[in-house]
Amino acid sequence: MTVELISVGTELLLGNIVNTNANYLSQKCAELGYSLYYQITVGDNEGRLCEVLKSALERSDVVILTGGLGPTQDDMTKEAVAKVYNRELVMDEPSRERIASYFTFRNKNNNSDSGVTNNNWKQALKISDAIVVENDNGTAPGYIVEAEGKATILLPGPPNEMLPMFENHIYPYLKKKQNKVFLSNMVKICGIGESKAETDILDLIEGQTNPTIAPYAKSGEVHFRVTAAADSNKEAEELLRPVVEELFHRFNENIYTTDEQETLEDVVVKLLHQKNYTLATAESCTGGLLTGRLVNVSGVSDVIKEGFITYSNEAKIKYLGVQPTTLETYGAVSSQTAEEMVRGAAKTSSSDTALAITGIAGPDGGTEDKPVGLVYIACLTNDKVTVKEYRMKGNRQKIRDQSVIYALDLLRRNLL
Ligand code: ATP
Ligand code: MG
Repeated sequence: MTVELISVGTELLLGNIVNTNANYLSQKCAELGYSLYYQITVGDNEGRLCEVLKSALERSDVVILTGGLGPTQDDMTKEAVAKVYNRELVMDEPSRERIASYFTFRNKNNNSDSGVTNNNWKQALKISDAIVVENDNGTAPGYIVEAEGKATILLPGPPNEMLPMFENHIYPYLKKKQNKVFLSNMVKICGIGESKAETDILDLIEGQTNPTIAPYAKSGEVHFRVTAAADSNKEAEELLRPVVEELFHRFNENIYTTDEQETLEDVVVKLLHQKNYTLATAESCTGGLLTGRLVNVSGVSDVIKEGFITYSNEAKIKYLGVQPTTLETYGAVSSQTAEEMVRGAAKTSSSDTALAITGIAGPDGGTEDKPVGLVYIACLTNDKVTVKEYRMKGNRQKIRDQSVIYALDLLRRNLL
């Protein structure tokens, strides 16, 4: 099934408002397994609206229009759709009653003299034979016009009216219309950059039809959504399996989950639980971000023993037992300091595993030798310490976020 969006409004064309409706609807349509190839924005002009609707109906199964359902002169979506379908506008009695009672309620409650004006009754007109969709948050109803197996859906422009109407009425309608079953796996990868990951499976991406493979780049991670469409769940699973297996074959332990909901910290905590290991953290430039991420996971209290925020040299000496001479000789941002931090954290808290992060998050503090983005991450498992040097790009927040991801990933790999 294909779907096409038409956003109606001169304000959108002038850049006065952001088209959040289209953004929301495209995500929902993708979720429902509809293919969306075109999005059009058109001003409040009947002729041009008729023109784009005609071409949209030629190539798409479903067309969704938003905006231009209000009571004023420049609202003409309904009129344009009626013209294209060659249908009359007729009075819809339930809509007329709803509008009447809406205004009675308003006038009673705010003592204003805003009565029903003639153009409000315009909203009670429907395209003949259209399905009227109730608006629980305003006066303009939505409409579904069906003909020749295709549908045109008209929704109000204001997001606070459009969103609930879509959720409650249109989403179920589209779901029913879409007779295929959709199944997807989210293959989440850490430790490989986005372009490398895409290049590694370019042949799969280019040759895809069903399942489809869609990449999503996240800070420090790459996700591939693999989606299969079929007549039954079983058939969808059978289509999905070999593709996901092939991704495992290519990316191996770089994949940390295929579960949409599971995060990197979930996986790390799960591994620690499985091995009955405890964890301590020592953070310099991330200042608690790593521990915060871990504490996102419920049930982490069994594994996390202590978290040390040791931003200053004094704190590194005082709480982690880092040697002053190490700091003097190699500096706070060095593999030697990272190693002493991680050993100190594990020892002080008697933990089986530990992570330490020290780096330069910027924007100041970088030198030629030690530029902004230089981060050392140390991981201790089974008394063995691994220290890794990273050179990251980006602003302070990004460097700190990435450091957390790389630290979690380093521990994950060491636990595997
Ligand atoms: P109304 O009854 O308010 O006139 P309407 O259905 O006629 O509603 P429009 O007149 O086109 O819709 O737009 C009304 C308001 O809704 C706009 O001023 C804007 O704030 C919001 N809006 C319209 N279209 C969009 C969109 N695509 N994305 C986000 N907001 C929108
Ligand atoms: Mg309007």
